[in-house]
Amino acid sequence: MKTTTKLLTGATILTGAIATKKYFDNKKEIKKPIEITNQQAYLIGGGLASMAAAAYLIQDGHMDGKNIHIYEGMKILGGSNDGAGSVTEGFVCRGGRMLNEETYENFWELFDRIPSIDHPGQSVTKEILDFDHLHPTEARARLIDRNGKILDVKSMGFDNKDRLTLGKLMITPESKLDNITIEQWFKDTPHFFTTNFWYMWQTTFAFQKWSSVFELKRYMNRMIFEFPRIETLAGVTRTPYNQYESVILPLKKYLDNHNVNFVTNATVTDIDFKNDDTITAKAIYLNKDGKDEKIILNDNDLCIMTNACMTDSATLGDYKTPAPKPVEKPISGELWYKVAKKKPNLGNPEPFFNNIKETNWESITATFRGNKFLKIIEEFSTNIPGSGALMTFKDSSWLMSMVVAAQPHFKAQDANTTIFWAYGLYTDRLGDYVKKPMKDCTGEEIFDELLYHLHLIDRKDEIKADIINVIPCMMPYVDAQFQPRKMSDRPYVVPKGSTNFAMISQFVEIPEDMVFTEEYSVRAARIAVYTLLNINKPICKVTPYNKDPMVLKKALETAYR
Ligand SMILES: Cc1cc2nc3c(=O)[nH]c(=O)nc-3n(C[C@H](O)[C@H](O)[C@H](O)COP(=O)(O)OP(=O)(O)OC[C@H]3O[C@@H](n4cnc5c(N)ncnc54)[C@H](O)[C@@H]3O)c2cc1C
Repeated sequence: MKTTTKLLTGATILTGAIATKKYFDNKKEIKKPIEITNQQAYLIGGGLASMAAAAYLIQDGHMDGKNIHIYEGMKILGGSNDGAGSVTEGFVCRGGRMLNEETYENFWELFDRIPSIDHPGQSVTKEILDFDHLHPTEARARLIDRNGKILDVKSMGFDNKDRLTLGKLMITPESKLDNITIEQWFKDTPHFFTTNFWYMWQTTFAFQKWSSVFELKRYMNRMIFEFPRIETLAGVTRTPYNQYESVILPLKKYLDNHNVNFVTNATVTDIDFKNDDTITAKAIYLNKDGKDEKIILNDNDLCIMTNACMTDSATLGDYKTPAPKPVEKPISGELWYKVAKKKPNLGNPEPFFNNIKETNWESITATFRGNKFLKIIEEFSTNIPGSGALMTFKDSSWLMSMVVAAQPHFKAQDANTTIFWAYGLYTDRLGDYVKKPMKDCTGEEIFDELLYHLHLIDRKDEIKADIINVIPCMMPYVDAQFQPRKMSDRPYVVPKGSTNFAMISQFVEIPEDMVFTEEYSVRAARIAVYTLLNINKPICKVTPYNKDPMVLKKALETAYR
């Protein structure tokens, strides 16, 4: 069961027992708010982080929306929160975002101030939470073995050595975890990698064996409340539709209503800084529709840069075409490389963006006429669409998982169209049925491999007759934020010495919080705006579930289940 969430009047939403006690950080130094005159804000990147920053600039910085400019390299806004398609071509979203009611503190607070598009008078937060409470997640088929059997995963499967090594990680200071991978940390405990816990934890959050153990520790701390229900994923919060439609579009509409200037197809290629000891952005170079432009900043103008993007250089295939091989150089990483060379304290993109082999994985979105396939999945898993969660084929060499969202997942879906999403974490390995690496496979081949693991390969012709499309998406940098690295490789949101410059994204350092989440981008945006404008309002703290004795007790019991 979820903890009860109370939506209070005003902008505050309190979730869970601890959150109600001490929600805001009141210890922040109080500075005089900066007076807004004709100040301009230039936001680089058109994802959730920049859009959230724009909303904070308007709402808490009292900035005029027309003075806020968002530059996005792609033709569409929303960044990694994508969702598109049609009933004839098939639908695609690179990923499906699981939210979390208990821990996405700033996300819920921000979206409680953004009006819903579909429910006039309601906020987006209320719309999402109402939907989620009506469609609770309680997965009954989390791990499937090679025989197509649903495994009992009540026990995490740890032995004492696993528990000790995990326990040691929890008490090791972050400063001692530079450049260490999960595999290295558990090198004397190979059994750990065979546990139910590892299969469920790694596929729920997309860790790989070579991911940073630092991030695993942050996740254990931040998600400790969810650890006892990892086997049902009952703590997952779902949006009514895909996140482009349920999160990005309402925010975009709100910003449009405030006349924010969105400039798409505009890649920022460089930034000039003042030639002194400060970090003061003074010019932005961009390429808009193939033409170079330069924007000169006044001293009090702001520059907030998305320093990297996890879906950078992602490519799409289709039923008969593999997703094309991605380009080696990420656009967002390139800008970060350039600016990091110009000033100190701007981090180091190298560990995140130089190893596609380790940072990639691939998803598919499959679209069908009718609901025959989803009915088969429903009978197998005993979960109706939207009530299950990640179903992982633990013995599949690509380590495949699939998720069936509540239908329709796209507003353009009609009653006779159904979709599901799946992914594989290890795309270089040969498939078990399709003897090719996942990254070289068409949508059809990836679907065949999935049918094989579902023990449905004998029915493939009958099932595939209903397919409209299966769109594979290769994301070369999707796990880049999990790469082993030094603490100093991630810059702080407002780097030391900055007068008007901030970095937001999954590649900045926010103490205690965990990357690969919507919350991280929103929190970064809030820190950027509040710090640069000296806004004297609290930012929602990371809820200290890891210090709550009851939560810890439950976690300990789970480790011994
Ligand atoms: C497959 C997948 C699954 C996910 N699952 C979850 C989940 O379950 N739960 C969860 O909370 N989160 C999840 N996420 C993460 C979440 O989507 C991201 O954390 C969030 O969208 C990041 O927002 P952002 O604005 O920081 O960056 P992005 O959304 O990546 O946006 C950055 C934007 O900046 C643009 N840009 C970058 N550099 C430049 C430049 N120089 N010039 C112009 N434009 C530029 C990029 O084109 C991009 O549009 C998932 C993401 C993916 C891809």
